[in-house]
Amino acid sequence: MKAMSRSASHLATAVGLGAAILFWVADIVVECHFFHSGHTCLQVLLHPEPSRLWLRFLASAVILLLIVETTIQLRHKEDAEAKLTHSTFLLKEMAIELSQKNENLRHEITRRKDAEKQLETLAVTDQLTGVYNRRKFDDTLRQHVRQESRYPLGLALLMLDIDRFKDVNDHLGHAAGDEVLKELTGLIMANKRDADDFFRVGGEEFCLITFGKERGSLGTTAEKLRQIVAEHVFSQVGHLTVSIGATHFVPGDNYDSLLKRSDDALYAAKQTGRNKALVV
Ligand code: GH3
Ligand code: MG
Ligand code: MG
Repeated sequence: MKAMSRSASHLATAVGLGAAILFWVADIVVECHFFHSGHTCLQVLLHPEPSRLWLRFLASAVILLLIVETTIQLRHKEDAEAKLTHSTFLLKEMAIELSQKNENLRHEITRRKDAEKQLETLAVTDQLTGVYNRRKFDDTLRQHVRQESRYPLGLALLMLDIDRFKDVNDHLGHAAGDEVLKELTGLIMANKRDADDFFRVGGEEFCLITFGKERGSLGTTAEKLRQIVAEHVFSQVGHLTVSIGATHFVPGDNYDSLLKRSDDALYAAKQTGRNKALVV
């Protein structure tokens, strides 16, 4: 664009100079043919009449002035175009930079959201077994108790504790105990209903929150889980048993009363020989 404008102003200069020279030559030719037919053009050129010479200078000056004016105009146009081109270029650069920053910002936001989500998940996950932890259990049970008071869905709580787990640690080591905790978690997760939530609430204590069970069927569920564990052969320790205490939400219950009743049921299961599922 700039090169085109520059060649236009050069062309204007060349055309103007050419026009001045042409005018000069044409005037000499006209003078020698029509006014001094006895003289050659060279004689007219070398010995011009002062009035003709003055006229030629004047005409040439006018032509040259026009050229200068045109060239100045063209130069202004060139400068304006150059500035416009430069500004457009800068704007494009800024737009690219801005879109890059936008993209980076979007990535950063996504990264932070992912990190936040990971942190949130981490805060409610038991690190050893990967199931929900005590904090999540407390929140979930409190929320269900509140809802159950207004819209009853048959909320029930099962508390499960490994029998004589201390012996596993004492005889086979803490690492073997950890493996048992993980294996037991996998076993319950594979056999519970999808809608039920399973939590590790203490060292070797777990809770299951379930809904919609009649008294009899809650007992069946608890017994089924007890049996599954009792029949399972744990990779490092062989057979193990659990005791289970279960209870239904009853009107007037709160978080503490529901928890205490299932804990009492679990305690009773332990006291009456372990490897038992009691519903109260
Ligand atoms: P009970 O039948 O009465 O429940 O007996 P128990 O031995 O299972 O209960 P107790 O409360 O005496 O012992 C629980 C043991 O669980 C003690 C503790 O070392 C162990 N424990 C707690 N958390 C972990 C853990 O994360 N990993 C391992 N390996 N052991 C744990
Ligand atoms: Mg125990
Ligand atoms: Mg215990």
